[in-house]
Amino acid sequence: MSTATLTIDLDAIAENWRALDRLTDQATQTGAVVKADAYGLGAGRVARALARAGARRFFVALAEEGAEVRQALGPGPQICIFSGHMAGDTEMIGDLDLTPMLNSLDQMTRHLEALPDHPFGIQLDTGMNRLGMEPDEWAAVAEIVLPLKPELLMSHLACADEPGHPMNARQLANFHAMTDGTNVPRSLSATGGILLGPQYHFDLTRPGIGLYGGMPFAAARPVLRLTLPVVQTRMLEPGESVGYGCTWTAEHPASIATVSAGYADGILRALSGRATLWAGETPCPVAGRISMDLITVDVTHLDEPPRELDLICPEQTIDALASEAGTIGYEILTSLGPRYTRRYGGAQA
Ligand SMILES: *Cc1c(COP(=O)(O)O)cnc(C)c1O
Repeated sequence: MSTATLTIDLDAIAENWRALDRLTDQATQTGAVVKADAYGLGAGRVARALARAGARRFFVALAEEGAEVRQALGPGPQICIFSGHMAGDTEMIGDLDLTPMLNSLDQMTRHLEALPDHPFGIQLDTGMNRLGMEPDEWAAVAEIVLPLKPELLMSHLACADEPGHPMNARQLANFHAMTDGTNVPRSLSATGGILLGPQYHFDLTRPGIGLYGGMPFAAARPVLRLTLPVVQTRMLEPGESVGYGCTWTAEHPASIATVSAGYADGILRALSGRATLWAGETPCPVAGRISMDLITVDVTHLDEPPRELDLICPEQTIDALASEAGTIGYEILTSLGPRYTRRYGGAQA
């Protein structure tokens, strides 16, 4: 079989959730962000593992994602929708008991007219200018909305992965100004905000990337292994080149392994000539360009031709790979393609 295997350690995800939960005090609840198919790792399986670990509040970007998570979890846990209540979502929100985080007066009107007794939260803009009600908008409706008992007042930090950035304190002050005295549960922090310290924790945190082993949660347990099968290995004479554009040329007799996976699987073409694959603990550099379905790797220094090589493993985290590609771990995860065989490991699987 030439399908590559993505092994996802559900125990490590659960342990990362517990570790993030321990960073906040008892009064602060720890939610779980499982948007974009749990960052590409499988929203249903991941949400079930986290629910077993104790998570009771889940966040997704879209109502459709919320529907999938509800199907996996059954009734009970709260499933919140960051994009709020969009036209066409009413039936799903109502039937599947999803909780929209309302972002604007338009959404608020739509929600209160269509589902007057249905739970909702409010997203506030404290400076990121992406989603949520502006301070003046909120000031105009807070008195009408607060008696309707929103489930949550939330906002999102723009620079939480840079602890020294002045934007953090500015957004914290804005969040206080917009929510102090409301007596509604509050949430400001994702993974980065949890690490900024207790004044950022409020009543509920919303970690995503830290659950999946990514920075800025440096203490995370690794979650993934991506293993690519070797389709064939060949010997090259000095002067022979490899792959599209002939960008790699053998200077000495060389052994090249061709593995099955490429940029169609989310292994970014920007990694051409830069990425390293691993034969156990031995690094093997990519030789030449990454193609759609195949990658060529210099394995001259190995004792035997390898049967498979790892691209993501404890020796090479998603963030190490991301920095080679000039991107972030989030993009490496969410680019992982649909062709992999996803294997779930750990006692939870
Ligand atoms: C994606 C997202 C999160 C999770 O962020 P991480 O950095 O992955 O922990 C939390 N809140 C909102 C609003 C988000 O969009």
